[in-house]
Amino acid sequence: MNSIQRELPAEIQDLINTAARLISKASCGIVLTGAGISTPSGIPDFRTPGSGVWSRFNPMEVASLSAFRYQPQKFFTWLHPMAKKMFHALPNPAHYALAVLEKAGYLQTIITQNIDGLHQRAGSKQVLEVHGTLETLTCIGCYQNFPSGEFISSFIEKGTPPRCPDCGQILKPDVILYEEQLPKKTWLKAQKACQNCGVILVAGSSLEVIPAATLPQRALENNARLIIVNHGATYLDSRAEVRIQGDVAEILPLIVQAVIDD
Ligand SMILES: [Zn+2]
Repeated sequence: MNSIQRELPAEIQDLINTAARLISKASCGIVLTGAGISTPSGIPDFRTPGSGVWSRFNPMEVASLSAFRYQPQKFFTWLHPMAKKMFHALPNPAHYALAVLEKAGYLQTIITQNIDGLHQRAGSKQVLEVHGTLETLTCIGCYQNFPSGEFISSFIEKGTPPRCPDCGQILKPDVILYEEQLPKKTWLKAQKACQNCGVILVAGSSLEVIPAATLPQRALENNARLIIVNHGATYLDSRAEVRIQGDVAEILPLIVQAVIDD
């Protein structure tokens, strides 16, 4: 970590220190994460043109609720490479840094747009998955809920859609598809977290997916300070007190270290 630190330009180091001060002084800190926090774990941003996943399929045709209902095989064919990558992925230093920040008492809630479960695998406890999760499945026949575990490993191996051991119907991953509402309770908790926080850190999100992208706006309306760490531009860059263009897996551990050392 020291060698990376030495290579950082002084202005980035200053931004890291300012971000750390905002976090350590705030009464309540929250984080909003997007696909960019999982790309260092080898999970491509499925919305990035050319990442190969969206470009082969029209997501509205395969990743929608009606596609799932009427052409489940097509849906699972689309899901297969993504599920495989997520199943084998490991948390990266950005995920671990946020888990450390929570444990140290500076971070109350992580709101994530990701479905990969990597925050929890890194040790984070208070995680709101506004786009659902691939970690559990629900039977479309009897509505029983199952941990993905064996079902997903068998799906990855054979490619056949997972089926309910009791009624034989298809098991739907608990991810939010197009045409589906966000999980209501989770969404309300996320909104509440944004209303009550003193600082919000946006990490690895370009803030393009609605409605999750409106959450930092809500925090700003309630006088929270905004920190953004992301490779690309976001619509709230001009409202951010600290804006760092960079790799979250490099920058987040440095911010967290600075908070802990403060
Ligand atoms: Zn069933």
